[in-house]
Amino acid sequence: MLDQIYRKAVLTVSGQKVVEDLVRSRGWGMAQRFVAGEDAASAIRAVQDLGRDGILGNLDLLGEFVASPEAANEFAGKVLHLLDEAHAAGLTPYVSVKLSSVGQGQTVEGEDLGLSNARRIVGRAREYGGFVCLDMEDHPRVDQTLAQFRLLVGEFGHAHVGTVLQSYLYRSEADRDSLDDLRPNLRIVKGAYLEPESVAMPDKADVDASYRRLVYAHMKAGNYVNVATHDESIIEDVKLFALAHGISKDAFEFQMLYGIRRDLQQDLARQGYRVRAYIPYGRDWYPYFSRRIAETPRNAVFVLRGMLKG
Ligand SMILES: Cc1cc2nc3c(=O)[nH]c(=O)nc-3n(C[C@H](O)[C@H](O)[C@H](O)COP(=O)(O)OP(=O)(O)OC[C@H]3O[C@@H](n4cnc5c(N)ncnc54)[C@H](O)[C@@H]3O)c2cc1C
Repeated sequence: MLDQIYRKAVLTVSGQKVVEDLVRSRGWGMAQRFVAGEDAASAIRAVQDLGRDGILGNLDLLGEFVASPEAANEFAGKVLHLLDEAHAAGLTPYVSVKLSSVGQGQTVEGEDLGLSNARRIVGRAREYGGFVCLDMEDHPRVDQTLAQFRLLVGEFGHAHVGTVLQSYLYRSEADRDSLDDLRPNLRIVKGAYLEPESVAMPDKADVDASYRRLVYAHMKAGNYVNVATHDESIIEDVKLFALAHGISKDAFEFQMLYGIRRDLQQDLARQGYRVRAYIPYGRDWYPYFSRRIAETPRNAVFVLRGMLKG
């Protein structure tokens, strides 16, 4: 319960303009613990660096809701550029995209701009044999994101596009069931947004139990699962579950965030598990950074120390 109170408090405070301005002006040095750099080249270097430890990368150009079609198209153009750059560097591109950053909710020529930009992005990734994961944002976007995911899988195939379910949402198990016919590639996370108790479980033990159920159900259905967590007890349980049910190491992967538990990432890779680090980069780091601070008080201490040092 205390960790939920802490998380809510940080997400509420970090939403205040005055706090945002202060952290934005003094926080880039600290943000670099979680963010690979400001441009695509730095992020690609981070993938290459992790590759030396047998860890794969998932590139994420930081950015969230944009208010105009021009900004959405510009953002989508940068993601396309990232795919080109990753391919040119000899990587099979794997990227994550927030649909709100490419225009979801804005209608242009009768179609949702998020969907048309996602088509361009997934289409380009497929040309390179790559993959796009549609990140999951706050709960009002879930219906539309899942509906758009369904369309994109229909057009491009489940080998090139996936999405995310958040175990803190009451609805996620039913969502998983309803997607099964797509044989979807799903990333399972606990959920990082400030959500009301009417839609999200307030108790961490329930979120963790729901997390396990989602992963196990998806594995049992024979679908590819991205087990995205730093929770060691869940990771151990998933390993045991896979062993007990004869699920091969090729049928799932562990995913963690750049800069968090690299030791654990390396251990799992050494044990022969597929491991992928989520590598954010770009100038719009503040919302991402706030969610990481909200995840553990240790990160808040790290930030406060950094700010006091100036
Ligand atoms: C690859 C990946 C992709 C994600 N994509 C999404 C998404 O699309 N939508 C979404 O809502 N959320 C996403 N998340 C975030 C996720 O929802 C959680 O907020 C986050 O992963 C923390 O939860 P946890 O599973 O690690 O478990 P927790 O129970 O929060 O933590 C488990 C352990 O890891 C440590 N830990 C957790 N976070 C941190 C941190 N930031 N710094 C240091 N230690 C930490 C904890 O202290 C604890 O010891 C993603 C997470 C990952 C790993």
